[in-house]
Amino acid sequence: MKTHEYQAREVMSRYGVPFGEARVAETATEAEAAARELGGDVVVKAQVHTGGRGKAGGVKLPHTPEEAGQFAAQLLGSTIKGFPVQKVLVAEAVPVSREFYVGVLIDRGPTKSITVMASTMGGVDIEETAKTAPEKIVRIVAHPLMGMGDYQARDLSLALGLSREESRAFTRVVRSLYECFIENDCTLLEINPLAFAEDGRLLALDSKMVIDDNALFRRPAMLALRDVGQEEPVEVEAQDAGVIYVKMDGNIGCVVNGAGLAMATMDLIQLHGGEPANFLDFGGGPSVEKVRASLRLILQDPKVKAILVNIFGGITRCDVVAQALLEALTDDDIGVPIVARLVGTNAADARQMLARTQVQLATNISEAAELVVSLAAGNGGKQ
Ligand code: GDP
Ligand code: MN
Repeated sequence: MKTHEYQAREVMSRYGVPFGEARVAETATEAEAAARELGGDVVVKAQVHTGGRGKAGGVKLPHTPEEAGQFAAQLLGSTIKGFPVQKVLVAEAVPVSREFYVGVLIDRGPTKSITVMASTMGGVDIEETAKTAPEKIVRIVAHPLMGMGDYQARDLSLALGLSREESRAFTRVVRSLYECFIENDCTLLEINPLAFAEDGRLLALDSKMVIDDNALFRRPAMLALRDVGQEEPVEVEAQDAGVIYVKMDGNIGCVVNGAGLAMATMDLIQLHGGEPANFLDFGGGPSVEKVRASLRLILQDPKVKAILVNIFGGITRCDVVAQALLEALTDDDIGVPIVARLVGTNAADARQMLARTQVQLATNISEAAELVVSLAAGNGGKQ
């Protein structure tokens, strides 16, 4: 689960990460008042669930409180990279002498451990640095049981070329981030840039926090930070229905039980020259309603030209899937051909239920994939 910058800074500050003063504003008037209250120079920043706001016009440097209000008026109600701006952060603008990147994340590579990454190439896109100048990124790997040692954080500062004094401040931030990461079941904590101000203070100028979805059940305080307005409506709907759905770019909708089978289904579609419109896994033993919800999710995508239902029935009953298809055909507006491959529990019943409908039954998965690819390309069929 992603969070907003203002939420991340609130959580991180509790662990001792140093931030400048800031206020959240939901209207231009509030933003202007905040700028006046903060005094001095401020930045106005769109609060959206995406990075790269600076480049996308979401970070503004006003000269006066009035101008802060005007920038807020421009940002509020607009979108940045497709994300709606409902709040802005008005923050003390800090004259910066040096910018760093620091992030804590779970390395999915060989170490499979919590890793702290840092770089002197702060402020810019870290993915870009990783590609073009990987030697500019330094890492320490925390021990899964012992955690991160202070000496490791000091090593990191040393590798960045910090002085003893600077290193003390930097090490404190790394410690705070690590503690915050562990205590909140994060999958990512990032400060970019972490900057030395001209007056020598070390300050976090941006903050990003992602919480492990699977830990939200025991992190109610984090769950309370969820902003559904920033999420894809169709993915929110999928979550509510208990279905795993990921939108892709193709035109063949996939309804499948099980993640492995769903992946294999997408591969087969591609093998036969088609493009899947989505990944969808409704899990095991679904209700009729859950299967119908899956179909509805897929049909929201106007690109979908044909649907492939691929079921390997174990605890999932094929007749329940067939029932869902029958109901959907009667009640919903399904304007595209459907191919179904149903094997396993109650498959014979299911095939009978669908025999005289527009659903085209395939006897095996290759045939199903071939047929759905040709239907999506507009080549005839039973319909
Ligand atoms: P992002 O583009 O979404 O990562 O948004 P950031 O909050 O990181 O802002 C973009 C850039 O604006 C940063 O990389 C900084 O270079 C700059 N910036 C943000 N806040 C300040 C500030 O208080 N002082 C200065 N000098 N620059 C800032
Ligand atoms: Mn940033």
